[in-house]
Amino acid sequence: METLTQTTKINLLGLDEKAMQEFFHTLGEKPYRAQQVLKWIHFQGVSDIQSMTNLSKALRDKLQDIAEIRIPEIAYESTASDDTHKWLIRLADGNCIETVYIPEKERGTLCVSSQVGCTLNCDFCSTGKQGFSRNLTSAEIISQVWVAVRGLSQSGTLHDRAVTNVVMMGMGEPLLNFDNVVSAMNIMLDDYGYGLSKRRVTLSTAGVVPAMKQLREVSDVALAVSLHAPNDELRNVLVPLNKKYPLKELMAVCQDYFKEDKRRHIMMEYVMLAGVNDTPAHAKQLITLLQDVPAKVNLIPFNPFPSTIYKRSDDATILRFREILMAAGINALTRKTRGDDIDAACGQLVGQVKDRTRRSERHRKSIAQAQ
Ligand code: SF4
Repeated sequence: METLTQTTKINLLGLDEKAMQEFFHTLGEKPYRAQQVLKWIHFQGVSDIQSMTNLSKALRDKLQDIAEIRIPEIAYESTASDDTHKWLIRLADGNCIETVYIPEKERGTLCVSSQVGCTLNCDFCSTGKQGFSRNLTSAEIISQVWVAVRGLSQSGTLHDRAVTNVVMMGMGEPLLNFDNVVSAMNIMLDDYGYGLSKRRVTLSTAGVVPAMKQLREVSDVALAVSLHAPNDELRNVLVPLNKKYPLKELMAVCQDYFKEDKRRHIMMEYVMLAGVNDTPAHAKQLITLLQDVPAKVNLIPFNPFPSTIYKRSDDATILRFREILMAAGINALTRKTRGDDIDAACGQLVGQVKDRTRRSERHRKSIAQAQ
């Protein structure tokens, strides 16, 4: 596999069909070249331009002078006891991101990162504590799918499983890297790319309200919201972005989000934190909050990480919470915890972040002082 180095050549890996057509237009080539090259890269998994045999030799040579398919290096990978697979992917600038594959009976879900670290610093999230370095490029986002699909098809043990679903739920807030995330998702949806249906690609947001409105105009992927609290007071602590976009604004956009298709729902992610947001009173507040929103609720048993003050709600508490929601007609399910023995579970992705915010340093100091 090609090791990633900084070059000035254009990286074809991150171009969606429109961008690829524009690129070929500048070369005086027909639009269908875009489809041919997309298919080579994402369907066939080719990273060598000379292997694209339905392009003339002259065009391949010309392409090779100005473009390339830069695949990042896999720094490390591991498989958990439940077959969850994690890749640590090293980027050209030395930052590392994490991508996780979760195999299930009927599907294989890939959890993809959108930023190196995250600026939002949700209180229960390990990624948030690592600080933030930068947005990923569209090539770096889609490269995670490329690496996973190739890796799974080449692996002796995982060969029979494919990526059927992608969730933009890895490191980072996808809507704060809007253009690059949309381009990468376009490639996931494109028949010449990964051909996934709009219901099988999910973007998860902490609630960047203006960007949610923008997203609705340009992409019809599925939407998940990291809700985690049923009132502003608690959500201001757990998801500090709530101070900027409080629940009233967030619920207003959610209410209308799938107005063109009444059958679609928003998945509300709700991490279960013992004694914090998991009481029957919280469940009742949640029912009121969601009364006009086409929503399903995904209850996520918290995955503790070193230094966190939070604890996972016990199974009986989660079951009681779920039953209260279901009795009120809200479809609620409890997410199975996967990959926690390799720190691949939800909220545990950390990568290696060259933190520009110095938040990780402050976090380390506060832990040391508390000990
Ligand atoms: S939960 Fe998501 S948005 Fe919040 S800090 Fe973690 S990665 Fe960022």
